[in-house]
Amino acid sequence: MERKYDVAIIGSGGAGLTAAIYSSRARLGTVLFEKLMSGGQIALTDIVENYPGFPEGITGAEISKRMEDQAKRYGTTLVYEEVKSLVPRGKDFEIVTANATYKSRALIFTAGASFRTLGVSGEKELTGRGVSYCATCDGAFFKDKDVIVVGGGDSALQEGLFLTRFVTRLSIVHRRDQLRAGPLLQQRAKQNPKIHYIWDTVVEKIYGDKKVEGVNLRNVKTGKVQDFKTDGVFVFIGHEPNSALLKGLVNLDEKGYVKTDPFLRTSVPGIFAAGEIRAGATRQLVAACGEGCEAAMAAQAYLDALK
Ligand code: NAP
Repeated sequence: MERKYDVAIIGSGGAGLTAAIYSSRARLGTVLFEKLMSGGQIALTDIVENYPGFPEGITGAEISKRMEDQAKRYGTTLVYEEVKSLVPRGKDFEIVTANATYKSRALIFTAGASFRTLGVSGEKELTGRGVSYCATCDGAFFKDKDVIVVGGGDSALQEGLFLTRFVTRLSIVHRRDQLRAGPLLQQRAKQNPKIHYIWDTVVEKIYGDKKVEGVNLRNVKTGKVQDFKTDGVFVFIGHEPNSALLKGLVNLDEKGYVKTDPFLRTSVPGIFAAGEIRAGATRQLVAACGEGCEAAMAAQAYLDALK
């Protein structure tokens, strides 16, 4: 079977799915690789309230599914396999998965970012046993329990608010005394009687025998360490770019995000990047989708110029 495409897209978040819709509608042979499930981080988000056109909000799962259906409708091939390597071969790119090798003439990299971990003792061992990075996935396991949420950004507050549907008490542990989250989420969180704050504090250790039983918290101003009993630890402290496949291939910034020009071209002709993986991205779904569209159009212009 010939596995040759005009455009290969790596990652099916908002940027990747929109790039697929535009590219396949432009009648370019389009393949989209996804190692987990369509939608990326958005698929794990309870409700998206700031995507234009959905005044009542839309669940992350629903909007992801709709975008995927739209891409398929116009002919995108979806391959649910992890890409192991990307290699330039002349004017083509070779994309290798565990099962097959594909070729494409242009690449759009939209692999996004993964959640950052705390890196403290007990975190790895108790992941799935009280430590979680996804409220939508695991919240229901914490009915009538006490949990902590680590982080002070939009994710911490949005996911924390979702968790209050289940838990009795939720303590937000933040390393400063001011939240990074936007004012609307801050206001909602402050009005929620289940949410409490532990300021200027970091988690030093998570412990428990078979499941989380508590954490050691350190106040960064006083240095005082306290034992804090809790049933769950939800970590929302930002993200790390999924750019390992591009290391040594295109220019990345010091944090590992992909550098692009205003046309979303990377340092290698034929490779484009869009969405959260891109240095300077705004990390909003609507912006990721916009970038997916721009990258697909830039790829189309690149392919036209090759003819
Ligand atoms: P973020 O904005 O980078 O916030 C990460 C939070 O974790 C910050 O409060 C940070 O503290 C803290 N943090 C980072 N490293 C830490 C560590 N090692 N230990 C303890 N705390 C640590 O990440 P995010 O909340 O996931 O949001 C990512 C992007 O998605 C943002 O642009 C956000 O606006 C967007 N987003 C938007 C929505 C929405 O619009 N409703 C929802 C979710 C996410 P400091 O504040 O001290 O740096």
